[in-house]
Amino acid sequence: MNSVPVYFDNNATTCVAPEVVEAMLPFLTQYWGNPSSAYSFGHQLAARLDSARGAVASLISAEPREIVFTSCGTESINTAIQSALQTQPTKRHIITSAVEHSATLKFCQLLQKRGYQVTYLPVASDGGLDLAQLEQSIRPDTALVSLMLANNETGVLFPISEIAALCRSKGVLCHTDAVQAASKTRLNVQDFGVDFLSLSGHKLYAPKGVGLLYIKRHTRFHALLVGGSQERGRRGGTENVASIIGFGRAAELALDRLETENNRVRALRDRLESEILAAIPGSSRNGAAEPRLPNTSNLAFEGVEAEGILLLLDQAGICASSGSACTTGSLDPSHVLVAMGCSAARARASIRFSLGIYNTDQEVDYLLQHLPSIIEKLRVNAPLLSSSTV
Ligand code: PLP
Repeated sequence: MNSVPVYFDNNATTCVAPEVVEAMLPFLTQYWGNPSSAYSFGHQLAARLDSARGAVASLISAEPREIVFTSCGTESINTAIQSALQTQPTKRHIITSAVEHSATLKFCQLLQKRGYQVTYLPVASDGGLDLAQLEQSIRPDTALVSLMLANNETGVLFPISEIAALCRSKGVLCHTDAVQAASKTRLNVQDFGVDFLSLSGHKLYAPKGVGLLYIKRHTRFHALLVGGSQERGRRGGTENVASIIGFGRAAELALDRLETENNRVRALRDRLESEILAAIPGSSRNGAAEPRLPNTSNLAFEGVEAEGILLLLDQAGICASSGSACTTGSLDPSHVLVAMGCSAARARASIRFSLGIYNTDQEVDYLLQHLPSIIEKLRVNAPLLSSSTV
């Protein structure tokens, strides 16, 4: 295994913060009981789960009882969508967007095969959503509007408070996939006014394999995983105790660091972006500059294939990506960039840099030292490609 690289792929996953590891360890080594057991070695853990529930609830300004722990963002998203359909059996229409994560898109495609109808809202060339079009798409049989808060590929933000207000005025449930927004922007479910919100631990320095679904109080709910009565019957399955404790600690850290870290990360990202654009001819940004996550920069490099760039970056010990980690390996150009009107060639020539709280100025310098020569080398080796428009 290689040692730790220069890591600019924090939207794919983050490392586990040392403070989080420290908080988790006793629950892997000493207190490994089952919280549902009758004896204290087990049931004493229930109080620890409640503290973690309180911490993640604070991160999004929810009440602890509105939180259901899950195994990941994907499970949370699938659960919210199917719950909205199960609790409103006469409503068989869902609205989402063309740029959602595959956790939403693939589930919606599956529902279409089962006879449900789905509207995929288009986006503008800057990645933004047309709210008038959303309003026009809402029908009497619309069960749910599910739209992401922040796009994982471009970082572009959707105006979730306005979206939720529109849904409320039409009596339609609203879910937001806030997986990428957590720890990078302030999340407040009261201000948003959504009925459901999904988060994932491994995007905010907690381990993989833990997530949450916020369910607004009094919202009718139908569990996806049925079994034991964990999570007050809202999600069967023995709790992933250590990871939930870690998620709670990560949420506390995220809240403490929100402003300072994001200001620092934003400055790093802005420098990375502006210096790349200045140094490399034929480079440009995909998506709006604002409103956008402070850590994400999606850049197109005319006349080269992202695959080649990523390979040479990897050889230099730098991690970046050409889109969602969940679609890596697919030959199709990014569905997000294509939905924004990019040509397939431009989409295939685009790289996402996503920074995190452990990135440094020196790492940005290191990238800036290597990237221009990488692009030049690829262009020299592919003269025919470089004449294609992107
Ligand atoms: N939603 C978005 C926007 C994501 O970026 C991701 C992961 O990349 C997910 C959902 C899925 O989260 P998980 O990997 O926890 O299932």
